[in-house]
Amino acid sequence: MASGCAPPKLQEYILTEKLGSGSYATVYKAYRKVNSREVVAIKCVSKKSLNKASVENLLTEIEILKAVKHPHIVQLKDFQWDGENIYLIMEYCAGGDLSHFIRSRRVLPERVVCRFLQQLASALQYLHQRNISHLDLKPQNVLLSSQSTPHLKLADFGFAQHMSPWDEKRVLRGSPLYMAPEMVCRQQYDARVDLWSVGVILYGEWTRGARMGY
Ligand code: ADP
Ligand code: MG
Repeated sequence: MASGCAPPKLQEYILTEKLGSGSYATVYKAYRKVNSREVVAIKCVSKKSLNKASVENLLTEIEILKAVKHPHIVQLKDFQWDGENIYLIMEYCAGGDLSHFIRSRRVLPERVVCRFLQQLASALQYLHQRNISHLDLKPQNVLLSSQSTPHLKLADFGFAQHMSPWDEKRVLRGSPLYMAPEMVCRQQYDARVDLWSVGVILYGEWTRGARMGY
């Protein structure tokens, strides 16, 4: 797998620093060789780490990202594969993810939290209108376009699913801290579970200052 060792080699791109890693992928900053000014983020998924369920998740992630276009959803530019890995070539978000941002700022002013919430809500409204649920909303999966004037970009559609409002699902997905209680307790849920996760993210952003005594 790509993590821990030198970045994988791709014909059209030069992969440089590691930007982050999650449950099954490692993400690198990269430059296009022919037009070196274009910076991208490449999410590398090792084929060896994939079982049947995660292959399906990855295919759904690619299919959904190809179909969506929204200012607050990370853009998939291309995807490729070789013998080792599958590569999702994405828009680069220079501000990193929201978990780093919250940790580095310690306290976010109310106006910033409101702006972020509006941006997240507009991305979710767009997805839900298309019957797509993200199902893994957490600060690590929300990226920031830049350091100075950050715009939110919703990312990591690895657990996303097509779900109409009346669909009920049973497959447990997401991260326990942000998971809606009906998913944890009854293991039966619908598209509204994303809203619970937004609430937990908002609570964390807003009250961190208060909890730390600022
Ligand atoms: P996983 O499916 O393994 O959780 P993610 O897509 O969430 O992988 O990516 C892991 C981490 O890599 C993110 O939490 C973030 O810190 C970083 N990252 C992912 N995509 C980008 C991007 N487009 N620009 C900058 N950093 C990114
Ligand atoms: Mg992730």
